[in-house]
Amino acid sequence: VGERLYLGMDFGTSGARFAVIDRRGIIHAEAKKEYPLYLSGETYDWVSSWKVTLFSLLEDIPLHIRKLIASISIDGTSATTIIVDSKTGEPLWRPFLYNESCSDALPIVKSIAPVNHTVCSGSSTLCKLVSWWNRVDSNKKCALLLHQADWLLWLLHGKLGVSDYNNALKVGYDPEVDSYPQWLLSQQYSQVLPSVIAPGTSIGFLKEEVITRFDFQKDCVVCTGTTDSIAAFLAARATQPGKAVTSLGSTLAIKLLSTSRIEDARFGVYSHRLDDKWLVGGASNTGGAVLRQLFTDEQLEKLSEQINPLQASPLDYYPLPKAGERFPVADPNMAPRLHPRPGNDAEYLHGILESIARIEANAYGLLKDLGATQVDEVFTAGGGAKNEKWTKIRERVLGLPVSRAVQTEAAYGAALLALRGAQQNIQ
Ligand code: ADP
Repeated sequence: VGERLYLGMDFGTSGARFAVIDRRGIIHAEAKKEYPLYLSGETYDWVSSWKVTLFSLLEDIPLHIRKLIASISIDGTSATTIIVDSKTGEPLWRPFLYNESCSDALPIVKSIAPVNHTVCSGSSTLCKLVSWWNRVDSNKKCALLLHQADWLLWLLHGKLGVSDYNNALKVGYDPEVDSYPQWLLSQQYSQVLPSVIAPGTSIGFLKEEVITRFDFQKDCVVCTGTTDSIAAFLAARATQPGKAVTSLGSTLAIKLLSTSRIEDARFGVYSHRLDDKWLVGGASNTGGAVLRQLFTDEQLEKLSEQINPLQASPLDYYPLPKAGERFPVADPNMAPRLHPRPGNDAEYLHGILESIARIEANAYGLLKDLGATQVDEVFTAGGGAKNEKWTKIRERVLGLPVSRAVQTEAAYGAALLALRGAQQNIQ
């Protein structure tokens, strides 16, 4: 037998990926698959799509690698909720997707939860649960709530009713005291809530039929997962307080590892627990979407070459794709500011990149003002990470070391969770 390996799987919005790593973090295999689309009446049968994708990805792992896998973990989209039969695990209802809003349940949830709690949003898991509970009058007695990752992991280990405190945050779980709060436990539907343990904790061995079908080792364990955006943060291996990941995709999202927990609903800022630390996050509406409205990716590359990143641009913009900003300024009516536009496009781009960097600096500044650990190093993910001129501009504006994250795939982060679970198992 060779060195043992660790499998992470990421179930994102449009498809799924896997990554197999060794204990040093080197990738031995990876692949991705789009979800096949199955129709069930008028809607998509997501549960079947995810299940089929799970097993076909396992089949795609080369057999000699599969035989070396010591542990498995899975991340899923946050707040994707499946209500299943607590005896059979079969869904009782079509899944509620991550971005689906159950605003019918919002007034009820607001009346029981503390003001500005994370569950007080129409797309929270708790709103989905309450909406289901009040809509359907059958099967309440044998219902169980699982998140997407919990359910997929269950297909592998077969023990119903286990979740992790990252996925469970949006149903109301309190990761600080490590239990569901009293205001939630006193509700009738609290009986459907899963039990919660730390992400990357071994739940048990693979089911016999999974071992036989895919030729896994008998000692391969299945570990609790996390959400897709936390898994992407874990991939960057920013493990010390003060380390942060800025994601420069269509929007600008920042995540900072902090020793203190901060929450501020005005700015959409909240914290996820990671062991004894907190992963603090916020998202601005600025970012690559504005760049894409103005320039093609090729133009971005060509124009960037002409920028001197050591020189400050005198142009002061607030690039937004449309009106409205949440973080680091909460103003639903804030208008985009992209004028005056100089005749030279490279100068224009320089001004935009520098203005986005200032918003990023303000974002980290706000987290500090709210009580988070001060940022001391930034790793970058997303389409903007490949722009070296922008990286230099951001280093100057932030006054911090900025580099591209080596790994940014959520599947890689999930594999790190699997590794962690396997190591705890040995101790
Ligand atoms: P998402 O997954 O959020 O859609 P990606 O992480 O794929 O976004 O990043 C895409 C964004 O990256 C686009 O909005 C695009 O404008 C931006 N982008 C692409 N190339 C560059 C570049 N060279 N410099 C800056 N931004 C870029």
